[in-house]
Amino acid sequence: MANTGKHLYGPVPSRRLGLSLGVDIVPFKTCTLDCVYCQLGKTTCKTMERKEYVPVSEILDELQEVLDAGLAADYITLGGSGEPTLHSGIGRLIKGIKKLTSIPVAVLTNGTLFYLPEVRKDCVDADVILPSLDAGDQKTYEAINRPVEQLTFDMLVEGLCALKRDYPGQIWLEVFFVDKLNTDDAQITKISEAIKKIRPDKVHLNTAVRPTAEKNVEKVAPDKLEEIARRLSPNCEVIADFVSGHCRKTASDIPQALLSMLKRRPCSLNDVCSVLGLDVADAMVYLDELKDQGVIWSENKQGKTFFGAF
Ligand code: SF4
Repeated sequence: MANTGKHLYGPVPSRRLGLSLGVDIVPFKTCTLDCVYCQLGKTTCKTMERKEYVPVSEILDELQEVLDAGLAADYITLGGSGEPTLHSGIGRLIKGIKKLTSIPVAVLTNGTLFYLPEVRKDCVDADVILPSLDAGDQKTYEAINRPVEQLTFDMLVEGLCALKRDYPGQIWLEVFFVDKLNTDDAQITKISEAIKKIRPDKVHLNTAVRPTAEKNVEKVAPDKLEEIARRLSPNCEVIADFVSGHCRKTASDIPQALLSMLKRRPCSLNDVCSVLGLDVADAMVYLDELKDQGVIWSENKQGKTFFGAF
């Protein structure tokens, strides 16, 4: 089943969470950062303002409809078009989801606001929190993540340490490597020291396998990433490309579902096939139709074709 609603999308394949129903709780693209590698393009609303960007009741009503239709997902993931902890109702939302379903709730966050006690409290009922840390010092933080002025690297690390202290669930930290920006020896040593302080349950390494906000963002080679993983932390793992073990039903309105999915993030042909339950030939028919209508684009990224919506 693929959803075509206002706030929910997918389930989509996630390299870390299996099949994940995405919940978009801030408008495109509202974030505290403007990462060079962002799959959503440049941040159009860079802010630290927490508010109820979308009514919580509206999201819960939409989720109820999807659950009634027989949702099959490994996680319900708060994330989407920006930074979800900017939504001041995220605590109420997580509690509300927990009342509706036993599907675990994940929060996909850049981690910048965990220095605020109220944000840590809001996320306490999530099953897993997946924050990011891509730098070992202020200079590299600014180069890769381009935060709003008030946010510093020290605030990020201190916030994540406080989260570890206050939050009983799983913390899976993601480190995104961009070749030549954060891959030198000194940077890896500093990132490793920060990880030791934060003590996440898992560390996931990622690199630019999808089209990014800035064109010159370079992917790190798999063997180099494995070597970095060995240096960083014993619980560190390179996230392999998603391989679907799930059997998907065919969506009733495939072009609409496909467009909804591509609006959230660029996807490869394999992603499209696994989410929509299509074989390659059928998926290409739908993709070609949408391309002819001028509503989607395709781009080759290091030998793999990705599709995204305008
Ligand atoms: S990658 Fe995440 S944290 Fe970075 S700009 Fe994009 S939405 Fe924000």
